[in-house]
Amino acid sequence: MSMHPLFATRTSRMKASEIRELLKLLDQPGIISFAGGIPDPALFPAQAFSQAFQAALGPDSQAQALQYSVSEGYAPLREWLAQHMRQIGVGCDSDNILITSGSQQALDYLGKLFLSPGDTALVGWPTYLGALAAFNAYEPRFDRLSLNGNRGAAEYEAAAGDEAVKFAYLSPDFSNPTGETVDLRGRESLLDLADDLNCAIIEDGAYQALRYDGDAIPPILALELARKGSIEACRTIYCGSFSKTLSPGLRVGWVVAAKPVISQLVLMKQAADLHSATINQMAVHQVAQACFDTHIPKVRHAYSARRDAMLTALDQHMPDGVEWTKPEGGMFVWVTLPNDLEGSDLLARALETVKVAFVPGQAFFPDGSGANTIRLSFSNSDEATIREGIRRLGEVLRA
Ligand code: PMP
Repeated sequence: MSMHPLFATRTSRMKASEIRELLKLLDQPGIISFAGGIPDPALFPAQAFSQAFQAALGPDSQAQALQYSVSEGYAPLREWLAQHMRQIGVGCDSDNILITSGSQQALDYLGKLFLSPGDTALVGWPTYLGALAAFNAYEPRFDRLSLNGNRGAAEYEAAAGDEAVKFAYLSPDFSNPTGETVDLRGRESLLDLADDLNCAIIEDGAYQALRYDGDAIPPILALELARKGSIEACRTIYCGSFSKTLSPGLRVGWVVAAKPVISQLVLMKQAADLHSATINQMAVHQVAQACFDTHIPKVRHAYSARRDAMLTALDQHMPDGVEWTKPEGGMFVWVTLPNDLEGSDLLARALETVKVAFVPGQAFFPDGSGANTIRLSFSNSDEATIREGIRRLGEVLRA
């Protein structure tokens, strides 16, 4: 018997992530992978985590560490995050913060919170694949948000019959997949657009702490706060994550928003998983408190050298007609191939002939365009490997 007829309509839009499928193939020896946007495990503060878990399991705190806890999250971690957010310009208190199981869970909850079937979500073309996957389950339509239009103004392409635009989603710093950053003017004009449309803004700050050069630009939520005076008047919802800075495996992320939004998300958390793992939140709090400020510069230093190696190698080895972004942070370089080349064909050829992997860009476009783009991640290879991988890629492209 086929169970498919029993599945809800929302499942028809859920597909296996190309990236996850691809990662399964990368165990073969000798592959140079620019595919997964994953942190280098050598940069995890493993010693600090080991001590933090031991402390959490010590006689004074083991009962708490192994017990159920509140859905909002571990109070000292929410306090630490409120302080952290204030440092990056977002005046808030711990009641404005919900701890989630990674920021991916926040994206799912926000889709659930805002989207009824047929509602519109504005997203970049391309945008983070995991956000598309999370929102897709709630059966929205996607319209194209453009922040690089003429004069840097925020624009969106409305389709016929567009009524309820519920939110605009973007990761304004060193985005996944392009590595690009939205400048101050783009952020301000997005706030104007959201006011005009009366929609929310979902600001994905997953890579916010990973700036290697250039001046920091305030989060969109900080800019809105400066306009409106209080977070309670803001329509921007900020999603943060410890995945790219401390550890993705512990699944600790957070949401910052006006209290009524947090209350609604808390109800979702209660219905979905009650709370994020207590001991993980305690360990992350301990490690963040002990070494966030000293650890982050080490991560930035390592990734910035890798970014430089990749950009230099691209300059040396890419044939004419290939273009790429020059990210100021994050983990990704986005490459645009000549129109007649497809990223998926190039991947097949590169894997077969020179054992180099990356992600074809098409999956990041809600409308399936972008066939001539690819995403390269520089975070998980050393400089020599990056140089060799890009040299090989150049060889395939020339062939
Ligand atoms: N947002 C963006 C832009 C990402 O790249 C990722 C991870 N790839 C996430 C959110 C989710 O990260 P996590 O759930 O580990 O916090």
